[in-house]
Amino acid sequence: MIINHLIKNNILPYKIRHLIKDQYGLLHSTELLLSIMLLLFIIAAIANLSDSLNEKILSEEEFNTLETIAIESSDYLLNNPGNPENWEDDDGLNNGIVSNNIIPGLAVKKKKVENGEFYSESESDEMIMSNSISYNKLMKVKNNYDVLIERNLLNGSYQSSMAIYPLKSKIGPFVMGNLDDNVNDNDIAVVNRTVKCDYYSSFVLYDFNDFELIGDDVDGDEICNHDTNPDLTNHTNDERSLWLCKNFRIYKKSLEDYDYYLISDESVKSSNSYWILESLNRTNDDKERLNQEVIDLNPFFINDMENSSEDIYSIHFNVDKNHINDFKTVLVAIPKNMTNELISNGELKYDYFKVQDVNFIMKMSYD
Ligand SMILES: [Zn+2]
Repeated sequence: MIINHLIKNNILPYKIRHLIKDQYGLLHSTELLLSIMLLLFIIAAIANLSDSLNEKILSEEEFNTLETIAIESSDYLLNNPGNPENWEDDDGLNNGIVSNNIIPGLAVKKKKVENGEFYSESESDEMIMSNSISYNKLMKVKNNYDVLIERNLLNGSYQSSMAIYPLKSKIGPFVMGNLDDNVNDNDIAVVNRTVKCDYYSSFVLYDFNDFELIGDDVDGDEICNHDTNPDLTNHTNDERSLWLCKNFRIYKKSLEDYDYYLISDESVKSSNSYWILESLNRTNDDKERLNQEVIDLNPFFINDMENSSEDIYSIHFNVDKNHINDFKTVLVAIPKNMTNELISNGELKYDYFKVQDVNFIMKMSYD
């Protein structure tokens, strides 16, 4: 049909017309091949042209409506913890069974950690940290994006994607959603906000970098058992190094629920730092060079609490004053059901236990 149309309207080059009309003529195979290729090229060009003629470009009004919805959706996600309360703990989310009633929000609620146990400090609105988003909620959204975002939040009329890009850290972007590659860039509304993401900072029991220097000395009133026990080396700061010492209690029962790790930035290898971990009943005076990024502490605690249900421990770091900025270490307690996932995702790293500034980007188009 196309060919007839082309012949009738004198669109085909002379040579091809000639070949099509004169079926009994002598044909040279290369000539025929070239002609067919030319014909295919013309048909493809016409098909392409009609495709782009069909492509919708949104009117200004349609785009403004889309942009308003993208902004409102982003603001909702960033400033609300979602509904119902603690929706992220719903078991169905792990099996792809998602209730219509869940409207996801990403805002963080403040939580406190004491002796390895986590509890919500308050359920009231004032404790919602706006523009601080929960990595745990983001992970639940990623695994159920179609339902939570596109069905429950956006009522099924839009395509969208979401991502966070850390501003200053070694960790990579976290991307989710279903925005079709074929959508014209001009028909996509983009919202970009700088927010904080908690990552796994709620698992941190102690941030050992959380000290203040007053002159050359550490400001703090933590009592070190090495300063009062005459049998142990004194942990008084000298000209070259600082001592950072902390006491904490661990319950044997907590070891069934949590994996305790000492996590350091890779810079710790060049920080010339040493550490001692001991229980107050079984003291230890031998400091060891701190040169591993990940140290599993559960074997030590399990061994030490063989005959007790709890104990007080102390951890001591001796840090070179000239490399104080390379010393970046946290003590964390990771819920046991999450440890394997963190390890397999490569997330057992110092930066994942710090709150990070991130760019939150939401893209949206009409479905
Ligand atoms: Zn000490």
